[in-house]
Amino acid sequence: MELLDAVRGGADAATLAETPLPTTTRAVYVERRDQDIFAGRATRDKDPRESLHVGEVPLPEYAPDEVVVVVMASSLNFNTVWTSIFEPVPTFGFLDRLGRESRWGARHAQDFHVVGSDAAGIVVRVGSAVRNWQPGDEVTIQCNYVDDQDPSSHDDSMLAGNQRIWGFETNFGGLADITIVKANQLMPKATHLTWEEAAVNALCNSTAYRMLVSRNGAPVTQGDKVLIWGASGGIGSFAVQHVLNSGGVPIGVVSSEAKANTLRELGCRHVLNRAERDYRFWKDEHTQDESEWRRLGRDIRDLVGEDPDIVFEHPGRSTMGASVFVARRGGTIVTCAATTGYMVEYDNRHLWMRLKTIRGSHFSNYREAWDANQAVVEGRVVPPLSAVFPLERTGEATYEMHHNRHEGKIGILCAAEREGLGISDPARRAAVGEDRLTIFRRHDREG
Ligand code: NAP
Repeated sequence: MELLDAVRGGADAATLAETPLPTTTRAVYVERRDQDIFAGRATRDKDPRESLHVGEVPLPEYAPDEVVVVVMASSLNFNTVWTSIFEPVPTFGFLDRLGRESRWGARHAQDFHVVGSDAAGIVVRVGSAVRNWQPGDEVTIQCNYVDDQDPSSHDDSMLAGNQRIWGFETNFGGLADITIVKANQLMPKATHLTWEEAAVNALCNSTAYRMLVSRNGAPVTQGDKVLIWGASGGIGSFAVQHVLNSGGVPIGVVSSEAKANTLRELGCRHVLNRAERDYRFWKDEHTQDESEWRRLGRDIRDLVGEDPDIVFEHPGRSTMGASVFVARRGGTIVTCAATTGYMVEYDNRHLWMRLKTIRGSHFSNYREAWDANQAVVEGRVVPPLSAVFPLERTGEATYEMHHNRHEGKIGILCAAEREGLGISDPARRAAVGEDRLTIFRRHDREG
């Protein structure tokens, strides 16, 4: 395809702007007609390899406030697991709702849904209303999809009535060779990173940033002890870095010694291996065991001498009771997800009698995403890239994530022909440190 060849060949802005846009793109998508194929199967038996297809899909016209980007690399997020197993609801309902909003929204209501909420690539077209970006710009894409004509989006855009996540609640996501996004989703790509390293940060980094740095979350201050579930996972590995950067003390929970070692190299001194400790917070499906919450609490005190000021919560049903229990008097449980179940249970007496707060959080506004990206650009946060799959094997990668067999982030190669491309500032890379930039990759290969 001529446009992809031009991008890969490093064509200048004028050449890119003149090279015709193709009418289709290779992409990863689910199909509307498949949305009942897993009926009757348990969640863990719903297999993304059966529902995620790779093939050509039509590209729509781009709007005046949008840009067209050739995606060099993308990454896998848990929302693609949800879309691929059609849980908790099929995402076609989101697309249909967007489709009813406007002429431009109607482009999204299709019988296919191109997934993916991260990307790094090169701008090849800008709409007539775009001011700050041009063809040839190297960018990463954050997934907050905001209607800027909606007054409710003009305080904190995450509070907007029709705020959406690109590639989950909109179509034409990042797991493709070409994507179309709003100009206000673009951020500069870090010059010291490869395409696949640059692609894995925006969604998880921005989410962790809002939860632990922004005033909209539970901002960490010097010396704060922060319990982080899934600390070597996607959002957890960024959470650890933000806590350290803020002068806090992370206590990372993981489920293997290999993951514990990765965390230690990242700088997290206090690690609990939940598999080794064998916490059994639930006696059976309906009953929790407070003595197990206490055991976790004692383990935390043994490590850091006190109860956590903040608990970074996302597993949901399996851990929420314990999270509320172990937070210190007056502490905060900040939550953005419920991987193991969203109908959570905790003992409310521990919440009110000890004056604790549960804070809900979801992705980030553009400002927070931009500031989180700056931490990557300046080398204060490193990408937790552990593995790279080609676009054709996205189904397998999603299966790995669904079954918690990965660490950090999985990168997906899209238009980039191979790994290792995209570094334009090797001196900065050397300054940040090759070893630090590849912690997760090395541990994945060794472990
Ligand atoms: P991930 O890479 O799969 O990491 C999740 C981690 O959770 C795993 O590494 C695992 O760590 C831990 N975990 C799994 N089951 C657990 C259990 N029963 N008890 C304790 N820990 C458990 O996923 P992610 O990208 O970090 O995302 C995590 C969740 O956040 C997902 O549900 C995702 O959809 C959500 N999310 C929400 C937003 C938002 O904006 N609201 C943004 C990003 C992600 P160990 O096995 O090592 O303990």
